[in-house]
Amino acid sequence: MAFETPDHLERMLTRLKLTAIRDQLDGLLDEAGRGELTIREALTLFCEREIARKDQRRIEMSFGLARFPFVRDLSGFDFEAQPSVDKGQVRDLATGRFIANGEAVLLLGPPGVGKTHLAVAIGREVIVAGYTVLFVPAMTLVATLAKAHAEGRLEEKLAHFAKPKLLIVDELGYLPFEPDAAHLFFQLVSRRYERGALLVTSNRAIGEWGSVFGDAVVATAILDRMLHHSHVITIRGESYRLREKRRSGLLQKAAPAHPTINTSKSEGVSS
Ligand code: ADP
Ligand code: MG
Repeated sequence: MAFETPDHLERMLTRLKLTAIRDQLDGLLDEAGRGELTIREALTLFCEREIARKDQRRIEMSFGLARFPFVRDLSGFDFEAQPSVDKGQVRDLATGRFIANGEAVLLLGPPGVGKTHLAVAIGREVIVAGYTVLFVPAMTLVATLAKAHAEGRLEEKLAHFAKPKLLIVDELGYLPFEPDAAHLFFQLVSRRYERGALLVTSNRAIGEWGSVFGDAVVATAILDRMLHHSHVITIRGESYRLREKRRSGLLQKAAPAHPTINTSKSEGVSS
């Protein structure tokens, strides 16, 4: 063995990209010595540290690539305030099993009830579980596809949005689609169908999606694929913030009631 230069080990660790072991080498050697670890135990400890750092890096990078609009976690979601949401079902979705099964999740409900919060929280959990995620507002998605289509680069963009294991499409239905947009969205849904998962948030009931897409035939084709293996969570009630304000006495009168969406809530997978 070549022990000539003192930094020989460091250089080998660099070359092997074992940077956590390299950077913490003295501490790790001390720890192994103090704990009177066997060589095998010491190697296990070193590998654990390296893997922990690599996981941490992957998670941080994936959080960045996902382009979430804000940071929200399940721990920050007040389930008590939202009895229409089944905590167990949300926890189950957060494991990412629905992604492995290529299923879709629809989060429906009026504005302010926590749809985007839950979408981001689930997105972050599944990243930790090892999946790749991309978050995109529905309007940005269709505008990007329409622009790419006009520039002859549709294929490239479809591939971009088809790549992440989970695509979160937020706020579908806040504005109706342009005539061509529904068809572009359909192409994306078809591309992802049974290969990756979709999570869609919408303030519109499923029955209204025909008018969102502006084309009943395309809407039916989209829904056919999305609802085939799907989890539908319908959140009822009023905006969380308005509710909190009223509770703290900032609002005197009841806020105008939001129409509740009447889509039946399915537990687990319906097909
Ligand atoms: P939506 O997407 O349904 O319009 P958001 O998810 O954007 O609503 O929620 C609006 C704000 O209220 C966000 O800051 C969100 O974190 C917060 N919020 C909504 N519901 C809850 C809840 N049940 N517990 C904690 N915060 C909530
Ligand atoms: Mg939202």
